[in-house]
Formats: sequence, structure tokens, C-alpha cells
Amino acid sequence: MSQYTVLNPATEQVVRTVELTSAEQTDEAIARAQVAQRAWRDLAPGDRAALLRAFADRIDAHVEELAQLEVANSGHPIGAARWEAGQIRDVVRYYAAAPERMMGKQIPVAGGLDVTFHEPIGVVGVIVPWNFPLPILSWGIAPALAAGNAVIAKPAEMTPLTAIRIGEIALEAGLPEGVLQILPGKGSVVGQRLVDHPGVGKIVFTGSTEVGQQIMAGCAKNIKRLTLELGGKSANIVFADADIAKAAAAAPAGVFDNAGQDCCARSRILVQASVYDRFMELLEPAVRGITVGDPASEQTQMGPLISAAHRATVAAYVPDDAPVAFRGSAPDGPGYWFAPTVLAPIGLDAPAYREEIFGPVVTVTPFTDEADAIRLANDTPYGLSGSLWTRDVGRAIRVARGVETGNLSVNSHSSVRYWTPFGGFKQSGLGRELGPDAVEHFTETKNVFISTQD
Ligand code: NAD
Repeated sequence: MSQYTVLNPATEQVVRTVELTSAEQTDEAIARAQVAQRAWRDLAPGDRAALLRAFADRIDAHVEELAQLEVANSGHPIGAARWEAGQIRDVVRYYAAAPERMMGKQIPVAGGLDVTFHEPIGVVGVIVPWNFPLPILSWGIAPALAAGNAVIAKPAEMTPLTAIRIGEIALEAGLPEGVLQILPGKGSVVGQRLVDHPGVGKIVFTGSTEVGQQIMAGCAKNIKRLTLELGGKSANIVFADADIAKAAAAAPAGVFDNAGQDCCARSRILVQASVYDRFMELLEPAVRGITVGDPASEQTQMGPLISAAHRATVAAYVPDDAPVAFRGSAPDGPGYWFAPTVLAPIGLDAPAYREEIFGPVVTVTPFTDEADAIRLANDTPYGLSGSLWTRDVGRAIRVARGVETGNLSVNSHSSVRYWTPFGGFKQSGLGRELGPDAVEHFTETKNVFISTQD
């Protein structure tokens, strides 16, 4: 059996070695899930809800342990890692309220009774990327389980440790064997098998647009249900009438959170030309002031990148002749560090302006007026997130409606809230996760007519 050596990205030290699941073992797990799902589906709604609440309680008791594990595996600052561990607890708890509320409709018809049911799909495969191992895992598994599905989750190769622990915690909390299985392994082996196997009824994939396209093609063979959450190149639009000091102070967190390894990173700042110089003056101290360093320290705001290979990818967007306006700091020595970097002025055809970098690199570009801002914001194949800053309510609404993106914040960079829908326009995805409707996306609607004729 092959193994994967998990490295701590802040120290380059070995954290642990993990056994990788084979294609045959994936098939066995799918068979176990199919059996377990029938009993899980048939549980009384209140009993399924109680088990999910117990699962959430058990996660709550392990938040600190999960957070420390994420610091070691992913290099996330401890404050952020605690938030992430708290998020999986909250998402499981939120959807634990769903089983007793999965109500169908009673539709008036002649000669009988017509009712709809939300039937679980069966076995759901959740394929998770490395950037937010716990939150993204929870967005797939919690509503899928609540709807009565069995789930097989595959964490990313580099970041399997917290997901493996969640699988153990689920069993400790009393979830029946086979209802939630975590299979660490390669995308090309375990992920591919989940996509190809006819016994898996739905795939939830979060990751790159390129792999998402392959998965969509693979799912087409079985008309497999699919949710995709893919890349982004989101705009942060600052109008001249905004609170410029507030917009500049908030901009670094909007893009450098998680060292920029965030699909929602506002990695293109667009600033109205009349306030461009003032904005840059205010942005510089905000970027230089970011505390980059040991993720275990409570003061740290930004940790390392996930791997040496990823750092090389990010660095390629900042060659020696790159238009660096200013940079923040980063530690020397071991660890995959990359200083927060601001590129300006930048050509609109430059790779750093057009492509998702997934690192702490942001571009700043001037625009003339509202129409120009919307045109620039939409000039990308992506459409996941974004922000806009203005004091003009009408403009805020016009621009929010004009930007082709799934999630937008006005005068803030709000992060994902589990009780509101999340997903992308255009090549940023397909379908929506989270929010009040997510459970239905893990069901098929069945319509039943019952004759009342003698
Ligand atoms: P990735 O696409 O390389 O991998 C994501 C997951 O897919 C991993 O678990 C990987 O093992 C698996 N995988 C790879 N090849 C596969 C295949 N052929 N079949 C099935 N599974 C396969 O992405 P990544 O580098 O881990 O994550 C970064 C990307 O994820 C970025 O592009 C980012 O924007 C995106 N992302 C999007 C969201 C969102 O919600 N829209 C959230 C986080 C990350």
C-alpha cells in the first residue's frame, strides 16, 4: 500500500505518514456505504437528528485538538484554525435540525391526493481541496447526512489529518459504521473512482476549475448529480465616495486571509482613479503591518503556503521584473513563506491580473466610472465572490446586481456564513452549497398520486 508523508508547511518537518486508499478499497467502501445508507435512511427523522446533534457536540469537545492539528498540517494561524474547527461543529449542528423539517408538498388534484417526498440520493462522494480542510468537508457532509445519504469524503492528499479525525469522532458520537467514511488518497485514484462508480449518486467537488471540468465530464457518463465549487479571481471595487481609510484597512484581510489560498480572495482591487493615489498611500502600511509567522502564535495573522511546489507556482507570478508596488514581511529559514505582495500598475493581460494565483499577491487597477468598474470586474471567466465600497446606496445595489458573481459584500469582506447560500457564477461553479436549501440538493423529489376513487 502506498503512503503519503504529511509535512508541516511552517517547519518542513514530518507530521505523520498516512496510508493511501486504493481503488479496490474505494469500491469496498462504496459497497459498505450502500448497505449503511439503507438503515440510515430508514431511521426515524428525530433519531437521525439526535445522532447529528451528538456528532456536533463531540466535535465541540475536540475543537482545540482539531485546531492544533490544522495548525500542524495546514499552517493556518491558530485563531483561524479555531474558527474552522468551530465551523464544522456549527454546520453539523445547523443541518441536524433538518431531518424533521424535510417537508414535501400536498398539491390539489382531482380524484385523489398528490404529495411530494424528498428522497435521499443514496451514496454521496465529497472531494475536498487542501485550502480549508474542515469547513469545506462540513459543507458537503452535513446536509448530505441530514438528508439520509451515506457519505464518502476524500480529503486532499496534503491535508488529510483533520478529516481522518472527524471520521473517528463521528463513530465515537454514535454514527453507524459506514454512514460517514473518510478515505485519504489520491484524486486520480479515490476521487476518480467516486466519480466513475455507478453506486455513487452525487459528487460534491471543491477544487480547481481544471479538475472540475474533468469531474463534470466523468459524471456525465452516469448522469451523476454534481455540485462544483471552483476557482475565483474576485474584484474588490472601491469607489471615490467610499470610506477610503476603511476600505484600505480592510483590503489586506480580503485577499491575504489564509495566505491568499482562498477561492473567495479579492485578488483584484479596482479603485476609482480620482482616489487611487490616496488608497495606495493607506494600503501600504496596512500590508506592511500584517504579522506573518509562526502559525501557533496567537498574534499571527498569516502563515506559510501549503507546499514548496505551491510556493514556486505563486512565485512565478512575481518575476524579478514584476511591478511590485510594496510588500509585507515573511520569515527566513524553513517553511514555505511568501510575503504579502501588491502589484501595481499592472497590464490587464498580465497572468497575475487574469489568473487565480491562490497566494498572497494582489493587483491594484484604476477605473473611471461605475460602468467601467462593472466591465473590469466581469472581465474574467470566474464569478465567485467580491466586494464593493461606496456610501451611495443606489450605486451599491446597481453594482451588486451588475457584477456576475455568486457572493458579494458591500462595505465589508464578509466570509462565508453557513446559513446563507454559497457558490459561483460562470466557471466558478455549479449549484449552491450551504444556506437553508442545501439539504434539498441532496435529495430527489418524488411525486406520488393516491387515488381516492372506490
Ligand atoms: P484540485 O482541483 O487539485 O484538487 C481538489 C481535490 O480534487 C483534491 O482532493 C484532489 O485530490 C482531487 N482530485 C484531483 N484530481 C482528481 C480527479 N481526476 N478526480 C477526482 N478528484 C480529483 O484543487 P486544490 O489545488 O486542492 O485546491 C485549490 C483550488 O480549489 C483552487 O482553484 C480554489 O479556487 C478552489 N477552491 C474553490 C472553492 C469554492 O468554494 N469555490 C473553495 C476552496 C478552493
